[in-house]
Amino acid sequence: MIRVENVSYSYQAEEGPVAALTDVNLSIERGDFVAIIGHNGSGKSTLAKMFNGLLIPSQGRVTVMGKTTADPEQNWWIRQHVGLVFQNPDNQLVATMVEEDVAFGPENLGIPPAQIRERVEQALAQVDMLDKRTHAPHLLSGGQKQRVAIAGILAMRPQCLVLDEPTAMLDPRGRREVLETVLRLNREEGITVIWITHHMDEAVLARRVVVMERGRIAMEGPPRAVFLRREELQKLDLDVPVITRLAQLLADDGYAVPRDVLTVEEMVSLLCP
Ligand code: ADP
Ligand code: MG
Repeated sequence: MIRVENVSYSYQAEEGPVAALTDVNLSIERGDFVAIIGHNGSGKSTLAKMFNGLLIPSQGRVTVMGKTTADPEQNWWIRQHVGLVFQNPDNQLVATMVEEDVAFGPENLGIPPAQIRERVEQALAQVDMLDKRTHAPHLLSGGQKQRVAIAGILAMRPQCLVLDEPTAMLDPRGRREVLETVLRLNREEGITVIWITHHMDEAVLARRVVVMERGRIAMEGPPRAVFLRREELQKLDLDVPVITRLAQLLADDGYAVPRDVLTVEEMVSLLCP
């Protein structure tokens, strides 16, 4: 679906170039759910913007279904197929009514009005917000706003969603709403998901975890394998999920608990079989 090959990127700041990505290689398969974690400034947002051509590599290349993001002629096509959702839903909602907001993307694509209506309805249903279609976005909860922002992307019928810390500004309930929505879109509709987060309990739900450190990929693998490497993660100033840490502490103390427990449910079924 997306291939990142030998990608480096530097921002041109006043003080000179700032290296944000260094020789990154990554392949995202169709239907995948990939979590990207890493300390602040490790290059996650820069990488997110590479996936849909919002930024173009200084070196190397990014291709989306074979089309290179450096080709200006593919710009629209790529942005339509790879949708980006940002941290702050307030910056992503512009209209006075939910359904107008969701219509914004397809309108820009030049879709005929009748089809836009159909797409808006479907997208709002996909994020379970159809009943709020005529509401004012600014009166919604954080989680609802973020779901409307996601609907705005879905209305462009993308194959891939890239979400850059979409839950960072949300309360626990909003986080859960957004996470469950995106997990369902991946599972039931086969939408490829790249989920950037600093919440380890979100990352465990991915099929694959990519750990960024100073513009490079430091680790990559299924969550169970990545979170077994607690000491390495700690050196990168990253945690393992609380429940994994508990399992590892119990194992250290000689209890017969595997060190790669990822969820509370798993722990409960181990301790109370
Ligand atoms: P993350 O999302 O993991 O916090 P970023 O991709 O935002 O990391 O940043 C990676 C590096 O690039 C950091 O050193 C950051 O300071 C720098 N950077 C990000 N955006 C800019 C910018 N617009 N101008 C200059 N430097 C930037
Ligand atoms: Mg960021």
